[in-house]
Amino acid sequence: MIVIEGGTVLTVDDAGSVHAPGHVVIEGDRIVAVGPGRYRGDDGVAGRRSFQMIDAAGMVVLPGLVDLHYHTAVGKGFCDHLPLWESLEQFWYPSIRALDAETAYWAAAASYLESIKCGVTTVNDMYRRLPDLARAAGDIGIRAVLSNDVALDEHNLDTLQDNKDAYEAVHGTADGRVEVYVGIEWLPLASPGLLRDARALADELDTGIHVHLNESLTEVEDSKSRFGRRPTEVAYEAGLLGPRTIAAHCVWLSDTELEMMRSTGTQIAHNPSSNAKLGNGIARVPEMLAAGINVGLGHDAAESTNNCDLFEVMKFASLIHRAARVDAALFQAPDVVRMATRNGSDALGHQTGQLVPGRKADVILVDTRNSMFTPLVPGNAEQLYSHLVFAANGSAVDTTIVDGRVLMRHRELLTMDEGRILREASAGLARILERIG
Ligand SMILES: [Zn+2]
Repeated sequence: MIVIEGGTVLTVDDAGSVHAPGHVVIEGDRIVAVGPGRYRGDDGVAGRRSFQMIDAAGMVVLPGLVDLHYHTAVGKGFCDHLPLWESLEQFWYPSIRALDAETAYWAAAASYLESIKCGVTTVNDMYRRLPDLARAAGDIGIRAVLSNDVALDEHNLDTLQDNKDAYEAVHGTADGRVEVYVGIEWLPLASPGLLRDARALADELDTGIHVHLNESLTEVEDSKSRFGRRPTEVAYEAGLLGPRTIAAHCVWLSDTELEMMRSTGTQIAHNPSSNAKLGNGIARVPEMLAAGINVGLGHDAAESTNNCDLFEVMKFASLIHRAARVDAALFQAPDVVRMATRNGSDALGHQTGQLVPGRKADVILVDTRNSMFTPLVPGNAEQLYSHLVFAANGSAVDTTIVDGRVLMRHRELLTMDEGRILREASAGLARILERIG
Protein backbone atom coordinates (compact mmCIF):
# COMPACT_ATOMS: atom_id res chain seq x y z
CA MET A 1 0.00 0.00 0.00
CA ILE A 2 1.26 3.46 -0.93
CA VAL A 3 -0.17 6.63 0.61
CA ILE A 4 0.64 9.87 -1.23
CA GLU A 5 -0.20 12.92 0.88
CA GLY A 6 0.47 16.63 1.16
CA GLY A 7 0.52 17.58 -2.53
CA THR A 8 -1.94 19.15 -4.93
CA VAL A 9 -3.86 16.34 -6.64
CA LEU A 10 -5.03 16.93 -10.23
CA THR A 11 -7.35 13.99 -10.76
CA VAL A 12 -8.16 14.72 -14.44
CA ASP A 13 -11.51 13.04 -13.71
CA ASP A 14 -14.78 13.92 -15.44
CA ALA A 15 -15.37 16.88 -13.15
CA GLY A 16 -11.74 18.02 -13.31
CA SER A 17 -11.49 17.68 -9.51
CA VAL A 18 -8.46 19.23 -7.81
CA HIS A 19 -7.58 18.55 -4.17
CA ALA A 20 -5.16 21.08 -2.67
CA PRO A 21 -3.86 19.41 -0.65
CA GLY A 22 -5.12 15.92 -1.23
CA HIS A 23 -4.27 12.25 -1.04
CA VAL A 24 -3.96 9.29 -3.38
CA VAL A 25 -3.86 5.77 -1.98
CA ILE A 26 -2.62 2.79 -3.96
CA GLU A 27 -3.09 -0.86 -3.14
CA GLY A 28 -1.46 -3.38 -5.43
CA ASP A 29 -1.78 -2.10 -8.99
CA ARG A 30 -4.91 0.01 -8.29
CA ILE A 31 -5.86 3.39 -6.92
CA VAL A 32 -8.15 2.75 -3.97
CA ALA A 33 -8.76 6.25 -2.57
CA VAL A 34 -8.47 9.84 -3.77
CA GLY A 35 -9.67 12.91 -1.92
CA PRO A 36 -8.94 16.13 -0.08
CA GLY A 37 -6.70 16.44 2.97
CA ARG A 38 -5.07 13.47 4.65
CA TYR A 39 -6.11 9.89 4.13
CA ARG A 40 -8.27 8.45 6.87
CA GLY A 41 -8.97 4.85 5.98
CA ASP A 42 -11.62 2.89 7.87
CA ASP A 43 -9.09 1.24 10.10
CA GLY A 44 -6.49 4.02 9.88
CA VAL A 45 -3.34 3.80 7.84
CA ALA A 46 -1.23 3.19 10.93
CA GLY A 47 -3.19 -0.01 11.51
CA ARG A 48 -2.01 -1.47 8.23
CA ARG A 49 0.75 -3.97 8.37
CA SER A 50 2.90 -2.27 5.79
CA PHE A 51 2.52 0.89 3.82
CA GLN A 52 4.81 3.36 2.14
CA MET A 53 4.17 7.02 2.83
CA ILE A 54 5.13 9.40 0.01
CA ASP A 55 5.30 12.99 1.18
CA ALA A 56 4.10 15.09 -1.74
CA ALA A 57 4.56 18.50 -0.09
CA GLY A 58 5.51 20.96 -2.83
CA MET A 59 4.44 18.50 -5.52
CA VAL A 60 1.64 18.14 -8.03
CA VAL A 61 0.21 14.63 -8.17
CA LEU A 62 -1.33 13.71 -11.51
CA PRO A 63 -1.95 10.72 -13.77
CA GLY A 64 1.09 9.44 -15.63
CA LEU A 65 1.46 10.74 -19.18
CA VAL A 66 0.59 8.52 -22.14
CA ASP A 67 2.85 8.81 -25.17
CA LEU A 68 0.41 7.70 -27.85
CA HIS A 69 2.82 7.54 -30.77
CA TYR A 70 6.30 6.29 -30.03
CA HIS A 71 9.27 4.57 -31.55
CA THR A 72 12.17 3.25 -29.54
CA ALA A 73 15.22 5.18 -30.74
CA VAL A 74 18.56 3.64 -31.56
CA GLY A 75 20.08 6.96 -32.62
CA LYS A 76 19.38 10.66 -32.85
CA GLY A 77 21.14 13.78 -34.00
CA PHE A 78 21.50 12.58 -37.59
CA CYS A 79 19.72 13.87 -40.70
CA ASP A 80 18.24 16.71 -38.63
CA HIS A 81 17.89 18.86 -41.76
CA LEU A 82 16.14 16.28 -43.95
CA PRO A 83 12.42 15.88 -44.67
CA LEU A 84 10.63 12.73 -43.55
CA TRP A 85 11.04 10.47 -46.57
CA GLU A 86 14.74 11.23 -47.03
CA SER A 87 15.54 10.86 -43.31
CA LEU A 88 13.79 7.48 -43.28
CA GLU A 89 15.79 6.27 -46.27
CA GLN A 90 19.13 7.64 -45.05
CA PHE A 91 19.08 6.67 -41.41
CA TRP A 92 15.92 5.16 -39.94
CA TYR A 93 15.31 2.18 -42.21
CA PRO A 94 19.01 1.23 -42.47
CA SER A 95 19.38 1.44 -38.68
CA ILE A 96 16.33 -0.67 -37.86
CA ARG A 97 17.28 -3.23 -40.52
CA ALA A 98 20.65 -3.60 -38.78
CA LEU A 99 19.11 -4.08 -35.33
CA ASP A 100 20.23 -7.05 -33.22
CA ALA A 101 18.61 -8.32 -30.04
CA GLU A 102 21.01 -6.66 -27.61
CA THR A 103 20.90 -3.31 -29.40
CA ALA A 104 17.11 -3.38 -29.47
CA TYR A 105 16.92 -4.18 -25.76
CA TRP A 106 19.22 -1.33 -24.71
CA ALA A 107 17.75 1.15 -27.18
CA ALA A 108 14.32 0.44 -25.73
CA ALA A 109 15.63 0.66 -22.17
CA ALA A 110 17.26 4.03 -22.90
CA SER A 111 14.10 5.35 -24.57
CA TYR A 112 11.85 4.14 -21.75
CA LEU A 113 14.31 5.56 -19.21
CA GLU A 114 13.99 9.03 -20.71
CA SER A 115 10.21 8.68 -20.83
CA ILE A 116 9.98 7.60 -17.18
CA LYS A 117 12.19 10.55 -16.23
CA CYS A 118 9.74 12.82 -18.04
CA GLY A 119 6.66 11.36 -16.32
CA VAL A 120 5.51 9.06 -19.12
CA THR A 121 3.97 5.85 -17.80
CA THR A 122 2.63 4.35 -21.06
CA VAL A 123 4.25 4.18 -24.48
CA ASN A 124 2.60 3.09 -27.72
CA ASP A 125 5.80 1.87 -29.35
CA MET A 126 6.03 0.79 -33.00
CA TYR A 127 9.40 -0.81 -33.61
CA ARG A 128 11.08 -4.14 -34.35
CA ARG A 129 12.23 -7.13 -32.25
CA LEU A 130 9.27 -6.88 -29.90
CA PRO A 131 10.39 -9.69 -27.57
CA ASP A 132 13.52 -7.67 -26.77
CA LEU A 133 11.44 -4.51 -26.27
CA ALA A 134 9.05 -6.44 -24.04
CA ARG A 135 11.99 -7.60 -21.95
CA ALA A 136 13.19 -4.00 -21.58
CA ALA A 137 9.69 -2.79 -20.66
CA GLY A 138 9.35 -5.63 -18.17
CA ASP A 139 12.71 -4.89 -16.56
CA ILE A 140 12.34 -1.12 -16.35
CA GLY A 141 8.64 -1.27 -15.41
CA ILE A 142 6.93 0.97 -17.97
CA ARG A 143 3.54 0.11 -19.54
CA ALA A 144 4.10 -0.62 -23.23
CA VAL A 145 1.87 -1.32 -26.20
CA LEU A 146 4.19 -2.72 -28.86
CA SER A 147 3.64 -3.14 -32.58
CA ASN A 148 5.85 -4.21 -35.45
CA ASP A 149 7.02 -2.14 -38.39
CA VAL A 150 5.09 -4.19 -40.94
CA ALA A 151 5.66 -3.43 -44.62
CA LEU A 152 5.55 -5.27 -47.94
CA ASP A 153 8.18 -8.01 -48.12
CA GLU A 154 10.45 -6.17 -50.57
CA HIS A 155 11.19 -3.49 -47.96
CA ASN A 156 12.92 -5.97 -45.66
CA LEU A 157 11.25 -4.78 -42.47
CA ASP A 158 8.64 -6.81 -40.53
CA THR A 159 5.86 -9.06 -41.78
CA LEU A 160 2.43 -9.75 -40.35
CA GLN A 161 3.77 -13.17 -39.38
CA ASP A 162 6.50 -11.44 -37.32
CA ASN A 163 3.77 -9.40 -35.63
CA LYS A 164 1.69 -12.53 -34.97
CA ASP A 165 4.72 -14.34 -33.54
CA ALA A 166 5.44 -11.36 -31.28
CA TYR A 167 1.83 -11.33 -30.10
CA GLU A 168 2.00 -14.99 -29.21
CA ALA A 169 5.36 -14.57 -27.49
CA VAL A 170 4.86 -11.46 -25.34
CA HIS A 171 1.27 -10.14 -25.37
CA GLY A 172 0.06 -9.92 -21.79
CA THR A 173 3.49 -10.40 -20.23
CA ALA A 174 4.99 -8.28 -17.41
CA ASP A 175 1.78 -8.64 -15.37
CA GLY A 176 -0.22 -7.48 -18.38
CA ARG A 177 1.77 -4.27 -18.79
CA VAL A 178 3.02 -5.38 -22.21
CA GLU A 179 0.50 -5.69 -25.03
CA VAL A 180 1.03 -6.29 -28.73
CA TYR A 181 -0.89 -4.49 -31.49
CA VAL A 182 -0.63 -4.99 -35.23
CA GLY A 183 1.58 -2.28 -36.74
CA ILE A 184 1.64 -0.92 -40.28
CA GLU A 185 4.61 1.32 -41.10
CA TRP A 186 2.89 3.56 -43.65
CA LEU A 187 1.18 3.54 -47.01
CA PRO A 188 4.29 4.09 -49.17
CA LEU A 189 5.55 0.67 -47.99
CA ALA A 190 2.14 -1.03 -48.00
CA SER A 191 -0.71 -2.06 -50.29
CA PRO A 192 -4.50 -2.30 -49.87
CA GLY A 193 -4.07 -6.07 -49.61
CA LEU A 194 -1.58 -5.75 -46.77
CA LEU A 195 -3.95 -3.43 -44.93
CA ARG A 196 -6.83 -5.91 -45.32
CA ASP A 197 -4.59 -8.69 -44.01
CA ALA A 198 -3.54 -6.49 -41.07
CA ARG A 199 -7.19 -5.93 -40.17
CA ALA A 200 -7.88 -9.67 -40.42
CA LEU A 201 -4.92 -10.44 -38.14
CA ALA A 202 -5.96 -7.81 -35.57
CA ASP A 203 -9.46 -9.31 -35.52
CA GLU A 204 -8.09 -12.82 -35.23
CA LEU A 205 -5.87 -11.82 -32.30
CA ASP A 206 -8.54 -9.51 -30.83
CA THR A 207 -6.07 -6.64 -30.61
CA GLY A 208 -5.55 -3.08 -31.83
CA ILE A 209 -3.78 -1.51 -34.81
CA HIS A 210 -1.10 1.19 -34.92
CA VAL A 211 -0.45 2.96 -38.22
CA HIS A 212 1.04 6.17 -39.65
CA LEU A 213 -1.47 8.00 -41.85
CA ASN A 214 -1.30 11.22 -43.88
CA GLU A 215 1.93 12.32 -42.20
CA SER A 216 3.46 14.17 -45.15
CA LEU A 217 2.35 15.64 -48.46
CA THR A 218 4.72 13.31 -50.30
CA GLU A 219 2.94 10.35 -48.67
CA VAL A 220 -0.42 11.66 -49.85
CA GLU A 221 0.88 12.20 -53.39
CA ASP A 222 2.45 8.72 -53.42
CA SER A 223 -0.84 7.17 -52.35
CA LYS A 224 -2.80 9.07 -55.01
CA SER A 225 -0.40 7.98 -57.74
CA ARG A 226 -0.16 4.32 -56.64
CA PHE A 227 -3.72 3.69 -55.46
CA GLY A 228 -5.72 6.56 -56.95
CA ARG A 229 -6.83 7.54 -53.46
CA ARG A 230 -5.54 9.36 -50.39
CA PRO A 231 -3.95 7.30 -47.55
CA THR A 232 -6.89 7.41 -45.15
CA GLU A 233 -9.30 6.58 -47.99
CA VAL A 234 -7.23 3.48 -48.75
CA ALA A 235 -7.14 2.55 -45.05
CA TYR A 236 -10.88 3.09 -44.72
CA GLU A 237 -11.72 0.92 -47.70
CA ALA A 238 -9.41 -1.83 -46.40
CA GLY A 239 -11.23 -1.79 -43.04
CA LEU A 240 -8.13 -0.69 -41.17
CA LEU A 241 -9.82 2.13 -39.24
CA GLY A 242 -11.86 1.64 -36.08
CA PRO A 243 -12.03 2.38 -32.36
CA ARG A 244 -9.06 0.13 -31.63
CA THR A 245 -6.90 1.74 -34.34
CA ILE A 246 -4.37 4.42 -33.43
CA ALA A 247 -3.66 6.59 -36.47
CA ALA A 248 -0.53 8.66 -35.99
CA HIS A 249 0.00 12.17 -37.39
CA CYS A 250 -3.01 12.65 -39.74
CA VAL A 251 -1.54 16.01 -40.77
CA TRP A 252 -3.01 16.17 -44.27
CA LEU A 253 -6.59 15.00 -43.84
CA SER A 254 -9.24 16.07 -46.34
CA ASP A 255 -12.77 16.73 -45.07
CA THR A 256 -13.74 13.31 -46.41
CA GLU A 257 -10.90 11.61 -44.52
CA LEU A 258 -11.74 13.51 -41.34
CA GLU A 259 -15.27 12.17 -41.60
CA MET A 260 -13.87 8.64 -42.13
CA MET A 261 -11.87 9.00 -38.90
CA ARG A 262 -14.95 10.25 -37.06
CA SER A 263 -17.44 7.72 -38.35
CA THR A 264 -15.15 4.77 -37.59
CA GLY A 265 -14.24 6.03 -34.09
CA THR A 266 -10.54 5.93 -34.97
CA GLN A 267 -8.10 7.29 -32.34
CA ILE A 268 -5.62 9.94 -33.47
CA ALA A 269 -2.12 10.54 -32.09
CA HIS A 270 -1.03 14.14 -32.61
CA ASN A 271 2.74 14.71 -32.83
CA PRO A 272 3.19 18.46 -33.22
CA SER A 273 6.93 18.72 -32.51
CA SER A 274 7.86 15.90 -34.90
CA ASN A 275 5.57 17.34 -37.58
CA ALA A 276 7.19 20.77 -37.12
CA LYS A 277 10.78 19.55 -37.15
CA LEU A 278 10.32 17.42 -40.26
CA GLY A 279 8.53 20.23 -42.06
CA ASN A 280 5.42 18.08 -42.43
CA GLY A 281 2.89 20.75 -41.49
CA ILE A 282 0.24 21.20 -38.81
CA ALA A 283 -2.56 18.71 -38.25
CA ARG A 284 -6.17 19.93 -38.27
CA VAL A 285 -6.63 19.15 -34.61
CA PRO A 286 -9.22 21.90 -33.93
CA GLU A 287 -11.44 20.28 -36.59
CA MET A 288 -10.76 16.78 -35.20
CA LEU A 289 -11.83 17.84 -31.71
CA ALA A 290 -14.87 19.69 -33.05
CA ALA A 291 -15.88 16.46 -34.82
CA GLY A 292 -15.63 14.57 -31.53
CA ILE A 293 -12.55 12.53 -32.46
CA ASN A 294 -10.39 11.42 -29.52
CA VAL A 295 -6.90 12.92 -29.90
CA GLY A 296 -3.90 12.02 -27.74
CA LEU A 297 -0.30 13.22 -27.90
CA GLY A 298 2.94 11.58 -28.96
CA HIS A 299 6.57 12.56 -29.34
CA ASP A 300 6.97 10.15 -32.32
CA ALA A 301 10.69 9.29 -32.20
CA ALA A 302 13.90 10.78 -30.89
CA GLU A 303 15.14 10.57 -34.49
CA SER A 304 12.49 13.09 -35.45
CA THR A 305 12.07 15.20 -32.32
CA ASN A 306 15.28 14.45 -30.40
CA ASN A 307 13.83 13.80 -26.95
CA CYS A 308 11.00 11.89 -25.29
CA ASP A 309 9.78 14.84 -23.20
CA LEU A 310 5.99 14.89 -23.41
CA PHE A 311 5.94 18.20 -21.52
CA GLU A 312 7.61 19.73 -24.57
CA VAL A 313 5.00 18.05 -26.78
CA MET A 314 2.21 19.50 -24.62
CA LYS A 315 3.55 23.00 -25.10
CA PHE A 316 3.93 22.49 -28.84
CA ALA A 317 0.40 21.07 -29.02
CA SER A 318 -0.96 24.34 -27.75
CA LEU A 319 1.37 26.88 -29.35
CA ILE A 320 1.51 25.49 -32.87
CA HIS A 321 -2.27 25.83 -33.34
CA ARG A 322 -2.41 29.25 -31.71
CA ALA A 323 0.28 30.45 -34.10
CA ALA A 324 -1.30 28.87 -37.17
CA ARG A 325 -4.87 30.03 -36.40
CA VAL A 326 -3.89 33.41 -34.88
CA ASP A 327 -5.99 32.49 -31.84
CA ALA A 328 -4.60 32.59 -28.28
CA ALA A 329 -7.73 30.93 -26.89
CA LEU A 330 -6.97 27.56 -28.49
CA PHE A 331 -5.69 24.55 -26.51
CA GLN A 332 -5.84 25.82 -22.97
CA ALA A 333 -3.66 24.10 -20.39
CA PRO A 334 -6.22 21.79 -18.72
CA ASP A 335 -7.35 20.53 -22.15
CA VAL A 336 -3.76 19.81 -23.16
CA VAL A 337 -3.12 17.88 -19.93
CA ARG A 338 -6.22 15.79 -20.67
CA MET A 339 -4.89 15.02 -24.14
CA ALA A 340 -1.58 13.84 -22.64
CA THR A 341 -3.24 11.67 -19.99
CA ARG A 342 -6.79 10.36 -20.31
CA ASN A 343 -7.21 10.84 -24.05
CA GLY A 344 -4.15 8.67 -24.66
CA SER A 345 -5.32 6.12 -22.12
CA ASP A 346 -8.82 6.01 -23.62
CA ALA A 347 -7.33 5.56 -27.09
CA LEU A 348 -5.59 2.40 -25.90
CA GLY A 349 -8.60 1.17 -23.93
CA HIS A 350 -6.56 1.38 -20.72
CA GLN A 351 -7.80 2.00 -17.21
CA THR A 352 -5.22 4.71 -16.54
CA GLY A 353 -5.16 8.44 -17.28
CA GLN A 354 -7.24 9.57 -14.29
CA LEU A 355 -6.73 9.49 -10.54
CA VAL A 356 -9.97 7.76 -9.66
CA PRO A 357 -10.51 4.77 -7.33
CA GLY A 358 -10.53 1.53 -9.30
CA ARG A 359 -8.21 2.81 -11.99
CA LYS A 360 -4.71 1.45 -12.50
CA ALA A 361 -2.11 3.19 -10.36
CA ASP A 362 -0.04 5.08 -12.95
CA VAL A 363 0.79 8.25 -11.05
CA ILE A 364 3.47 10.93 -11.23
CA LEU A 365 4.67 13.59 -8.82
CA VAL A 366 5.97 16.84 -10.29
CA ASP A 367 8.12 19.04 -8.08
CA THR A 368 7.09 22.70 -7.98
CA ARG A 369 10.00 23.82 -5.80
CA ASN A 370 12.07 25.16 -8.67
CA SER A 371 12.22 28.18 -10.95
CA MET A 372 9.94 26.61 -13.57
CA PHE A 373 7.03 26.75 -11.11
CA THR A 374 7.97 30.06 -9.48
CA PRO A 375 6.22 32.31 -8.65
CA LEU A 376 3.32 30.13 -7.57
CA VAL A 377 0.14 30.99 -5.72
CA PRO A 378 -0.59 28.09 -3.32
CA GLY A 379 -3.76 26.19 -4.21
CA ASN A 380 -4.35 27.97 -7.52
CA ALA A 381 -5.17 25.11 -9.91
CA GLU A 382 -5.43 27.31 -12.99
CA GLN A 383 -1.90 28.59 -12.51
CA LEU A 384 -0.63 25.10 -11.79
CA TYR A 385 -2.06 23.77 -15.06
CA SER A 386 -0.50 26.72 -16.85
CA HIS A 387 2.92 26.04 -15.34
CA LEU A 388 2.67 22.33 -16.21
CA VAL A 389 1.99 23.01 -19.90
CA PHE A 390 3.73 26.30 -20.61
CA ALA A 391 6.58 26.60 -18.06
CA ALA A 392 7.74 23.14 -17.07
CA ASN A 393 9.72 20.42 -18.76
CA GLY A 394 10.15 16.77 -17.88
CA SER A 395 13.04 17.44 -15.50
CA ALA A 396 10.48 18.65 -12.93
CA VAL A 397 9.12 15.11 -12.56
CA ASP A 398 10.22 13.74 -9.19
CA THR A 399 8.46 10.37 -8.94
CA THR A 400 6.99 7.97 -11.50
CA ILE A 401 4.71 5.10 -10.46
CA VAL A 402 3.40 2.46 -12.88
CA ASP A 403 0.94 -0.28 -11.90
CA GLY A 404 1.49 0.64 -8.24
CA ARG A 405 5.26 0.18 -8.48
CA VAL A 406 7.59 3.13 -7.88
CA LEU A 407 9.94 3.21 -10.89
CA MET A 408 11.60 6.54 -10.14
CA ARG A 409 11.90 8.36 -6.82
CA HIS A 410 13.57 11.77 -6.48
CA ARG A 411 14.66 11.34 -10.12
CA GLU A 412 16.54 8.13 -9.37
CA LEU A 413 15.58 5.08 -11.42
CA LEU A 414 14.93 2.23 -8.99
CA THR A 415 14.45 -0.67 -11.40
CA MET A 416 17.62 -0.77 -13.50
CA ASP A 417 21.14 0.62 -13.47
CA GLU A 418 20.75 3.96 -15.24
CA GLY A 419 24.47 4.38 -15.96
CA ARG A 420 24.61 0.99 -17.62
CA ILE A 421 21.57 1.76 -19.80
CA LEU A 422 23.26 4.93 -21.08
CA ARG A 423 26.56 3.17 -21.78
CA GLU A 424 24.95 0.17 -23.50
CA ALA A 425 22.68 2.38 -25.64
CA SER A 426 25.65 4.34 -26.94
CA ALA A 427 27.56 1.12 -27.58
CA GLY A 428 24.52 -0.18 -29.48
CA LEU A 429 24.45 2.88 -31.70
CA ALA A 430 28.18 2.45 -32.43
CA ARG A 431 27.49 -1.14 -33.58
CA ILE A 432 24.63 0.04 -35.82
CA LEU A 433 26.73 2.83 -37.37
CA GLU A 434 29.51 0.35 -38.08
CA ARG A 435 27.03 -1.97 -39.80
CA ILE A 436 25.32 0.63 -41.93
CA GLY A 437 28.47 2.63 -42.74
ZN1 LIG B 1 6.06 7.58 -36.15
